Amino acid sequence: MILETRAVAPFYKNGFVVGCERTREAVLIDPGDEVDELLDVAREADVKFRSILLTHAHLDHVTGVASAKAALSVPVYLHRDDLFLYENVVQQGALFGLTVHPQPEIDVFYDLAPLYFGDYEVRVHHTPGHCPGGVCLQIGKKGETGTDLFVGDTLFAGSIGRTDLPGGDYPTLMRSITQVLFPLGDRATVHPGHGPDTTIQRERTTNPFVLEYLQP
Ligand SMILES: [Zn+2]
Ligand SMILES: [Zn+2]
Repeated sequence: MILETRAVAPFYKNGFVVGCERTREAVLIDPGDEVDELLDVAREADVKFRSILLTHAHLDHVTGVASAKAALSVPVYLHRDDLFLYENVVQQGALFGLTVHPQPEIDVFYDLAPLYFGDYEVRVHHTPGHCPGGVCLQIGKKGETGTDLFVGDTLFAGSIGRTDLPGGDYPTLMRSITQVLFPLGDRATVHPGHGPDTTIQRERTTNPFVLEYLQP
């Protein structure tokens, strides 16, 4: 699997190029302010994008959608429950004192059907709590259990997503982490929206927020 990650100031939010090494087909995950770097690296890797996939619609994860869509002309995917955030991206920016431009329309709302690029399959899991329409994108070879999880801001190395933003809810977040993400398997690699990669096993056994929640 081709995997490239980039992050830039001010949010240091991870954007990803994930591609098939055989066919060079790829998906672009959460293009934000680092979108130009992602498009550059994709050009060097000679990949051809099939889609733009959003884990959720907080502004740091979507500010590059307009540039990406203009460059790639591929459909943009989002969970329906985050549409209100996406449509309010300009106001989200204003809260941070940032000028953010409106982004192009969402083309497809995720449903239960997997998506494909090259030899790979993306399974979409609804993981609300940080926001209503958060998803985990589970990626692996077609027909196999994917072991790369792009979780947005649901789970971080040693931390969890905040739940104090509109539509956030702590019990819902903890249910998503423990009942949706953990069953995807201890050996799965977690690629959070911010900070370094981790694994399900590490977070299940050492994440202080998880341990506190699971305490009998
Ligand atoms: Zn977020
Ligand atoms: Zn974020």
